Amino acid sequence: MLGGIEAGGTKWVCAVASSPDCILEEVRFPTTTPEETIGRALSFFREMEARHGRLAALGIGCFGPVDVGEGSPSWGFITTTPKPGWRDTGVAGVFQEELGVPVGFDTDVNAAALGECSYGAAQGLANVVYLTVGTGIGAGVVVDGRPVHGLVHPEAGHVLVRRHPDDTYGGRCPFHGDCLEGMASGPALAERWGMRGEEIPPEHEAWRMEAFYLAQGVMNLVLAVSPERVILGGGVMQQGHLFPLVRSELLRLLAGYVGHPAITEQVEDYLVPPGLGQRAGIVGALVLAARTAP
Ligand code: ADP
Ligand code: ZN
Repeated sequence: MLGGIEAGGTKWVCAVASSPDCILEEVRFPTTTPEETIGRALSFFREMEARHGRLAALGIGCFGPVDVGEGSPSWGFITTTPKPGWRDTGVAGVFQEELGVPVGFDTDVNAAALGECSYGAAQGLANVVYLTVGTGIGAGVVVDGRPVHGLVHPEAGHVLVRRHPDDTYGGRCPFHGDCLEGMASGPALAERWGMRGEEIPPEHEAWRMEAFYLAQGVMNLVLAVSPERVILGGGVMQQGHLFPLVRSELLRLLAGYVGHPAITEQVEDYLVPPGLGQRAGIVGALVLAARTAP
């Protein structure tokens, strides 16, 4: 039996499964304090072990920034998050000790990218980017079939973007102001236009501007990583009409420079929504578990 946690800044999803595409039971609850949130997850897995037997491994896809460095003293910690109460919080180690199981730990977006590679819109591909556009913007990067870790991990939600000539909004990233996340996250949309993304009508100019920024983020990733497919997920991308806007803006920005037909002729298969929908994160966490199990 595998365990998985999609540990988000807004909510946590915990699941047990016989394989990542066969979930047995699942719970979700809001992210409150670390003690309460981790405590609820531990109770769930203890109850599941009593009912279904021992876990072979647990996978955690976690909001961050996190420490994914194997052998690092703070491996499995959430590090410099601005989320109140969660800075320098150990996550993976607690589960390892309390449940006595091996734990695979990665960013929420790396886990989602892995889920999409295994069971979603990027099956069979080894080089994939998953960009989520929600409360924040984050990018999961899989290269040669493995989530990219480095000095820390990719933080491509915070790449710098050119300002739209009609945009006077200052941006809301607490670190950089007008980086991609600062200009194009769900809360940035809401603050700029005075209504939440859910309420902005499809024909509103907000979406052209949103696509202008998102396409720059995607272009930077295409140029830096050369993914075989880019997946755009998160709450804001529920606006399906954004996809054609981002695709055409991406083609305009690339200006034929990356001349591969997968982009120039089949961009609708290149820049796509998650095949797993909102389930990419939890399925990805279970894939992490499967890869960690002895
Ligand atoms: P989180 O990033 O917190 O895990 P989401 O991916 O759902 O969760 O992102 C939440 C953000 O996305 C909010 O700013 C919300 O206003 C925006 N959002 C959610 N659903 C939609 C939608 N259907 N259309 C536009 N924006 C949305
Ligand atoms: Zn930023």
